[in-house]
Amino acid sequence: MSFSIATAGCNLACLNCQNWEISRKSPNETRNIELFPEKAVEEALKNGCDSIAFTYTEPTVFYEYAFDTARLAKARGVKNLLISNGFINEKPLMDLSKYLDAANIDLKSFSEATYHELTGGRLKPILNTLKILKAEGVWLEITRLIIPGRTDDMDNIREMCEWLILNGFADTPMHFTRFYPFHKLPDVPYTPFETLEMARNIAVNSGIQYVYSGNVPGNYAENTYCPVCKEKLIERQGYNILSMNINDGLCKFCNTKITGVWGSG
Ligand code: SF4
Repeated sequence: MSFSIATAGCNLACLNCQNWEISRKSPNETRNIELFPEKAVEEALKNGCDSIAFTYTEPTVFYEYAFDTARLAKARGVKNLLISNGFINEKPLMDLSKYLDAANIDLKSFSEATYHELTGGRLKPILNTLKILKAEGVWLEITRLIIPGRTDDMDNIREMCEWLILNGFADTPMHFTRFYPFHKLPDVPYTPFETLEMARNIAVNSGIQYVYSGNVPGNYAENTYCPVCKEKLIERQGYNILSMNINDGLCKFCNTKITGVWGSG
């Protein structure tokens, strides 16, 4: 259970944005509530959430609020999660990292041209964000949405995976997610399952150890598999965990250390 917070606005303008009704609006166009950082932490605790997620739009646009809230949350033992497009300067990211426990960063393409056309942003700062979060010890996961005709080029995916391996991200979970038509791309079809599977195979063959398919409930690639013995370690259905075969961070079948943040329960 995570207490999730967003505001209106985003620093990118993705053609595919599924949250466009809030990301492409200004605060006076959205329904808002007043929630000061102290109160946000109180509410998280009151609602039995052991983490706060800064998410949905882009935490960079409410950076000061996220920073203050994260600092207070950390002091009260509540974890902080950053769900972000990663388009942020180095210094503010390093400052915020001190209070972050985990981050999921979109790596929307591995091409500057596509980044520019699809989002209005740039690739290089995102790659820098990944390196900083890893160096700062924040638990990191990466998401690549596969949009037919836009970000489904398999050579580009291969290049991205090679960069990830070269830069020490072999054990960083990689999520390839299915596109649903949204916002300015209403006529682009859903991502075929075969395309997700091709991307997954490229990543696995490149040496990325934990590769998932997202937005495909019931798909086998929602589960976590041991990178060594290939046994199913965590069986999932959507957000539910059906079975868990990890003991003290080790694969129950072959004792391989499984990278992750493992609770006691
Ligand atoms: S970064 Fe995320 S929230 Fe912002 S426009 Fe792109 S998809 Fe929407």
